[in-house]
Amino acid sequence: MDNRTQSQVNMCMQCGMCSGSCPESGITPFNIRKLVRKRHLKHDIEEALPWYCTSCGECTLRCPRDVKPSEMIIALRGELVEEGQIPLSIQKALENAFVQKNPWGRPRPKRADWVKEEGQDVEIPHVKDTESKRLLFSCCIQAYDPRCMVIPINVAKLLNRGGVEFGILGPEEACCGNEIRRMGEEGLFEELREENAAVFQKHGVKEIIALSPHCMNALKNEYGDLGIPVRHYTELLAEMVQRGDLAFKTPYNKKVIYHDPCFLGKQNKVYDAPRELLEAVEGVELMEYASARENSLCCEGGGGRMFFEAEIAYPRNSEKRVQEAVDKGAELLATSCPFCVMTLEDPATEKELPVKELSEILVEAL
Ligand code: SF4
Ligand code: SF4
Repeated sequence: MDNRTQSQVNMCMQCGMCSGSCPESGITPFNIRKLVRKRHLKHDIEEALPWYCTSCGECTLRCPRDVKPSEMIIALRGELVEEGQIPLSIQKALENAFVQKNPWGRPRPKRADWVKEEGQDVEIPHVKDTESKRLLFSCCIQAYDPRCMVIPINVAKLLNRGGVEFGILGPEEACCGNEIRRMGEEGLFEELREENAAVFQKHGVKEIIALSPHCMNALKNEYGDLGIPVRHYTELLAEMVQRGDLAFKTPYNKKVIYHDPCFLGKQNKVYDAPRELLEAVEGVELMEYASARENSLCCEGGGGRMFFEAEIAYPRNSEKRVQEAVDKGAELLATSCPFCVMTLEDPATEKELPVKELSEILVEAL
C-alpha cells in the first residue's frame, strides 16, 4: 500500500460512520471499519474479505477524517492481485479484459455489432467522420450483452431525434477500466487508459457522452487531464429537453420509482438530470425510495462484485430495493446504469415488476 493511502488509514478514529453506511458491512463477513483498523495496526487480512466491497463510495463520502476507505480496498485488492490471491472468476475477468478489452471475453472485432441489431433503425458514423467529434462511448456490457444492447441503440435514437450529431469508435473502443482498477489491476487499468486516450487523440475527439456511469466515472475522474469534457447521456438529454430540442409526446401513465446508481449519483452527483427526464414524460408519476440520492442503497453490481461468486446467505440489496418498490405501489423500476439493470432485474422478475433503463422509457414515450 502506498504511503499516501497508509497515512490516510492512520487518520482513522474508528467512529464507524463507514461501516454504519456500508451496504455490505455487518450483513456479510466484511466490515470496513474493522478492516481499516487491521490495516492501521498491520494485522493480516483474510484474503476473501476485500472482494465483498461493491466500490459504492458511501464510506468515503461519510468518513469525517478523509480516510477514503474505498480507495484502501482498491489498494488491498492490488496487493492480492500481485500475490495471485484472487478468486478464479475475478482472474478470468481480468484476463479477458487484457486479451479482448472487455471483462466478458467477447471478441473485440464485434464490439460495434450492437449497431446492426435486427429491427433497429440506427445508423451511426465513426467519430472521425463527424463534424462535432462528439463521441458516444458505449461500454463493454452495453456493446455485448443482449439485455443491455438496447441502451446505446435507444440513446442513439434520442440524440438523432434531437438533431445532435455524434459518432462511435467501434472496435477501436477498449474497456474504460473502471471495474478493472477496482478489481486491483492498476497496471491493466493504465494500459486501457493509455489505449483509449491515444484513440481519442488520434480522431480529434472533442466531447465524450458516456452511456454507463461506470465509464463516465473512469473517463472523467481517473483518466488524468484528457482535455475532453465527459458527461453522462442523461445530462445531455436533460439539456436538450430544457432547450426544447427533445420532447416526449406519448403519454406513459405509470408510477415509476427511480433507483440512483452509485457511480452516477453519490460518486458524481448526477441526481437531477434523470429525474428531470422522467418528469418530462407526460403521465409519469415519479416515486422516490426512502433511501435516495446520496443515501441510495447500492445494488451490489459494481466494483467487480458482478464477477465475484460469493456464497450469499442473506437477502441481496437488489431484493430489498425491489421489495420496497413493490410495497410503495410502483409499477416500474427505472434506473440509468446497465449494472443496476442486471442486478435488479432478477428479483424484480420474480415479483413481476418491470425494470427499465431510463432510455427505454424515453424512447417509448417519444
Ligand atoms: S468513517 Fe473514517 S474515521 Fe470513521 S471508522 Fe470509518 S475510516 Fe475510520
Ligand atoms: S465502497 Fe461501499 S461497499 Fe465498499 S466499503 Fe465503502 S461503503 Fe462498503
